[in-house]
Order: sequence, then structure tokens, then C-alpha cells
Amino acid sequence: MTKPHRELGGLTLADLQAVLVELGQPRYRATQIREQAWSGRVGSFQEMATLPVALRHELEAELCFRSLEIGAETTADRGLTSKLLLRGHDGEEVETVLIRHPGGAAARPRNTVCVSSQIGCAIGCLFCATGQLGLRRNLTAAEIVDQVRAAGHIWAAAGSGPPTNVVFMGMGEPLHNYGPVVEAIRLLQDWGLSPRHMVVSTSGLVPEIDRLAAEKLPVRLAISLHAANDLLRDRLVPLNRRYPLAELKAAAMRFSASTGRRVSLEYVLIANVNDRPEDAVALRQLAASVRAHVNLIPMNPIPNSELVAPPQRACREFAEMVGTRASIRFSRGERATAACGQLRASMAALPRRSALAAAAHIELVDGEMSTAPTHG
Ligand code: SAH
Ligand code: SF4
Repeated sequence: MTKPHRELGGLTLADLQAVLVELGQPRYRATQIREQAWSGRVGSFQEMATLPVALRHELEAELCFRSLEIGAETTADRGLTSKLLLRGHDGEEVETVLIRHPGGAAARPRNTVCVSSQIGCAIGCLFCATGQLGLRRNLTAAEIVDQVRAAGHIWAAAGSGPPTNVVFMGMGEPLHNYGPVVEAIRLLQDWGLSPRHMVVSTSGLVPEIDRLAAEKLPVRLAISLHAANDLLRDRLVPLNRRYPLAELKAAAMRFSASTGRRVSLEYVLIANVNDRPEDAVALRQLAASVRAHVNLIPMNPIPNSELVAPPQRACREFAEMVGTRASIRFSRGERATAACGQLRASMAALPRRSALAAAAHIELVDGEMSTAPTHG
């Protein structure tokens, strides 16, 4: 039997209804299939007990249940954080980080999936392990959606709730894979997740920021700033040479004006590189002018690089200089062995445990996930 080429994760409900009508089935079957596929409780069409057996076979011939095969899972933080390795049809590995926030008196529980948008990345930021890989390939929209479904599957098996938030902060530059990323956002919306609970993080592709604003999708935008002056940012984020700070700042302001959603700034703190008092002052001014919250992320070590985070105390002092707009969070008890958020490259070279520290910066960057700023 030849492998079906249409992926379930890449179909809207209307698309799936059309498939069922072609198979001579009533439309409501599509909703049934969707619910089960999203619940994470089944791993194939064969396990969909409410469907007639003949239909299960037909679906199997027609559609691919998952575009990514679920591989190894590593957990940390008493099971609240884990990293999944998923494998594409071509054998390429995709990383997805799962973070549970159990909630408390004031906060609802949240299950956040940090998805990759590409395998590798072409931007080449100085401090990033994914950047060292270069771009291997783009992920398809179905592969992005299926990372969220895979997370749902893992959580369902552990008795936790379904995914509630999605952040595009795994491997890759989401706006460099624009079409599939926007399609994935729309598909996830169609699968039942609100774009309001999604964050797209970018190193600063100005034309695509404007394009995203025009989509009228209420996602949050996080800008990976890392330096508030062009000379330094040119070195840290080579894309800055194409879209310097003045242009990026203007694009950030246009984005929040047209979507009504605030932009946040990410700033990886690197000892003796971008942690001087004048860097804090410049950052404070820039953040005030775009009215953005700043997430300070002590750099996680990466292979073949001397760059490290400043000592904890210095990070706190930096945060104080930036002021009330800034928050800083160290990883959940994993700081000492923290690795980069983009982990595949670091997996080989660093202790296994460090792979999990990805979650550290995700927790940092998704402001909605923070319970309270911990600087000062
Ligand atoms: N390419 C996008 C999204 C993926 S990277 C972007 O750059 O925004 C997600 C976040 O992880 C970015 O803010 C990035 O700067 C940060 N990051 C990359 N390498 C890191 C490291 N070694 N330590 C801490 N954060 C890192
Ligand atoms: Fe790419 Fe983001 Fe890493 Fe820069 S930080 S190399 S844009 S993944």
C-alpha cells in the first residue's frame, strides 16, 4: 500500500468533512475524528473505537495520522517540563518542549507547547545552538500542528489536560518560514486553540512583522532584541545589518498599534558582552518607547562557545537598572547545567539533563505564563 500523502494535522474541519463526504460518510464523523485526534488519547485511526472498522481502514489509506513520529522524551522539574524528540518522514529530528504550569489560587493551570518552526536556522545568532546548525529545512504546517498534538498525547497519557498555549520559540525563525507558520496558527485555531494564547518570537524580520500584523491574528509578538544599539546587535543578531534597530522598533510599534497586542522584548544576558550599565540604560529607553515588557534571559551555555551568563547577582542588578518593565527568571532549578533553548546541537555535547533547560527561557519569555516578576 502506498503511503497516504495528506496529513490529518494539516486539515481544517471543513477539509476533513470533504474527505468524509468523498468516502460516502456523514459529516459528523469529521467532528468525531477531530475530537479523538485532539484528545491525545488515541495514537492511530485504528484506535478510534467509535468509528466503523471499515472506515478506520479507509482513513488509514487516505490520511496520515501523524506527520511526526514520537521519539524520546526527557523530563525534568518533577515532570512539569519535558522535551520531546519527534522524527519527520525524512528522518530529520524536531524538538518540542512541553511545560506544565499547575496553576494556583490566582492562576489557571496552563499547558504550554514550545514548537519548532524549522530544522536549524539561517539567522546565525552568536549565542544560539540552532544558529550553529544552519538551515536544514522548513517544517510544514502539519508538522507544526502535530508537535502540539504530540504534546497533547504525552499529557493525556500522564493524566494532565490538553495544550492551552503555544509559543514559537523552539528551533528556527518562524517568520523565515512565514506561510507554513501562519497556516499552522490558523489550523491550530481551527483545532480549537485561540491565537490569543500563542506567541510568535522573531529575531526581527521587519517585512514579515508587518505581514503578520495584517493577518489580523491576535497572536503576541516577542522580539529577540539582545542589544539596544546597532553596533552590538549587528554582532549578536546578524539580521540587524539588514533591519537595524530604528526599523525594527518602528515595526514593533506598528504591530501593536494594528493588533492591539503588546510586544515583548527578549534579551539574552551575556557576560561582558551586553550586560554593561549603558546597555541597561539603552534597553530601558527602547522598551519605554515601544511600551514593551522585557524578559531578561541569562544565557544558557552552548557547545563551542565561550559565551556565558553573567553571575546571578549581576543579572539582578542589570534588571534593576532596566526598571519595572523588566523581569528576570532563572530556570526551574536547572540553571547550573542550563543549555540553549534550541537544543539539538547541544544534546550531543552536554549532559543529558541540560537538554531540559530549554524551558527556562520559555518560561521567561511568555509573559502570560509568569506568575510574578522575580527581579530585584
Ligand atoms: N528564532 C526566533 C525564535 C526561536 S529562538 C527568535 O530568535 O526569536 C527563541 C528564544 O531563545 C530567542 O529569544 C533566542 O534569542 C533565545 N535563545 C537562543 N539561544 C539561547 C541561549 N543560548 N540561551 C538563552 N536563550 C537563547
Ligand atoms: Fe535562529 Fe532564533 Fe537561534 Fe537566532 S536565536 S539563530 S533567529 S533560532
